[in-house]
Amino acid sequence: MGYREISLKLPTDYQEDELKKRIEIELGIKGFSHQIENKSLDARKKDRIHWLIRVSVLSEEIQGNAPLLPPSLLVPYRKTGKKAVVVGSGPAGFFAAFVLQKAGFHTTIIERGTDVHKRTAEIREFEKTGVFNPVSNYAFGEGGAGTFSDGKLTSRSKHISKERQFILESYISAGAPEETGYMAHPHLGSDNIRKIVKNLRDAFSDMGGSVLFETMLEDLKIEDGIVIEAITTSGGIEADCFIIAPGHSAYETYRMLIRRGVQFRTKHFALGSRVEHPQEIINKAQWGREKLPGVMAAQYRLTSQGDGNLPVYTFCMCPGGTVVPAAAYQNTNIVNGMSLHKRDGKFANAACVAGVHPDKLIGREATPEEALDWLEALEESFYQYSDGFKAPFCSIRNFIDRKEPSDIVETSYPLKLKPAALWDLLPAEVSSAIREGLREFNRKIRGFETGSIMGLESKTSSPIQVLREKDRRCTDFENLYLVGEGSGCSGGIISSGADGIKAAMSIIEGAL
Ligand SMILES: Cc1cc2nc3c(=O)[nH]c(=O)nc-3n(C[C@H](O)[C@H](O)[C@H](O)COP(=O)(O)OP(=O)(O)OC[C@H]3O[C@@H](n4cnc5c(N)ncnc54)[C@H](O)[C@@H]3O)c2cc1C
Repeated sequence: MGYREISLKLPTDYQEDELKKRIEIELGIKGFSHQIENKSLDARKKDRIHWLIRVSVLSEEIQGNAPLLPPSLLVPYRKTGKKAVVVGSGPAGFFAAFVLQKAGFHTTIIERGTDVHKRTAEIREFEKTGVFNPVSNYAFGEGGAGTFSDGKLTSRSKHISKERQFILESYISAGAPEETGYMAHPHLGSDNIRKIVKNLRDAFSDMGGSVLFETMLEDLKIEDGIVIEAITTSGGIEADCFIIAPGHSAYETYRMLIRRGVQFRTKHFALGSRVEHPQEIINKAQWGREKLPGVMAAQYRLTSQGDGNLPVYTFCMCPGGTVVPAAAYQNTNIVNGMSLHKRDGKFANAACVAGVHPDKLIGREATPEEALDWLEALEESFYQYSDGFKAPFCSIRNFIDRKEPSDIVETSYPLKLKPAALWDLLPAEVSSAIREGLREFNRKIRGFETGSIMGLESKTSSPIQVLREKDRRCTDFENLYLVGEGSGCSGGIISSGADGIKAAMSIIEGAL
């Protein structure tokens, strides 16, 4: 059996028969099997937008050997009888726990929020009533911050190919569409993620792992750099190793870790708001037309030097998506974005943020605790402005011109908008940079200034980063690991999941 890989250009609305026909013609063969290896949209020329598809073909009628596959993640199994406690069921915590359990550890996941089924209903209730639920919201609950997200599975991190492959394969075996394995920019959509999270939990439980929902880590009992016990709202749990993967919303968990001697430093992070447009405006600007058969919705990724002091960029773009109230605490008001797999909503949204260091915002060298206090106070100031969870907003044009008030517009945000001089609610340095960024984005995307800009986007990345060793152990601790977005060393579903897997693998290697 021979093997060939070929690249094909196909119309955006091609059907499977057309793909097969093209393979037949390209290779001059009749009998074969094929698999798409990579698929990306080439929209550089608006009158010739097409899919670029790399496809591998197996046939008796051709010659050539299949390339050696990159080594996949090998999880060695040994019944060590060792116990692991993992805090947080987001991608970092879950994949760390999954791999540890696979390797023969007795693993318990502690999750402060509710299971995904309950969480879905509770988030719906919040969006209907505006009554906040501290244990079940966009930040806390099964699957972590990624559960109610766009589920984009891209990552710019290098050196995580094995872990990335493991995560994608796990998602596909838990119900993700096959295309997740080959799309250049795969995305699951929140509807798929919710099912996948539950199926993966079942797979973890079937291997003997336990998950304790509505159980919060409150403290750690430590002796000579060794954690002995996790103190939780459901009692103490002893273990041989502890992986903490709390995300970067859990302020009291950060503060407890600092109190217990875990060392952090401050770092650059991103701050801004979310922009929203009717999806048709983005489609027209990117494709030259409102609809493109066979493609869900157009995307963008924009960068700018801002005002020359802080760089500005768009992040976590959600085509056909929704702006969501993503507060983790009652008296804070922040936004984020999500979408369903079909990305067929009326609006497109994206974070529009400036990269900044906490020292610049505070005006002097700040400690990690001060950086957290400063950020929390900013999130609270948005809550105070709205007296709840309405999103302070203005039109992008008015933000650029510092002109108020803006007329209320249609939005996907479920808890209503409140007109605001948004530039005054954000720190002056951030507003100034974003204003220039928006001017530039308006030159890149026709009609950009007709959109809205709303809320506080403070969760793009963390302002602090843990000090840890190469094996991800917290410096000066023997069995305590801090991973994922809460460590300040990853951002996004894939890189956080990979960070958790790497910590688990180093624990496993140390135990063998
Ligand atoms: C609305 C939204 C959309 C997003 N869209 C995307 C996207 O499309 N693609 C992408 O790559 N990333 C996206 N992100 C970011 C992504 O979700 C995060 O980068 C990722 O989830 C981080 O994983 P994590 O496991 O480190 O932390 P988290 O996912 O935040 O998980 C942390 C978990 O720990 C729990 N926890 C916290 N403290 C405690 C405690 N003391 N005790 C017990 N449990 C605790 C929390 O309840 C939570 O479940 C989005 C985020 C949001 C909020």
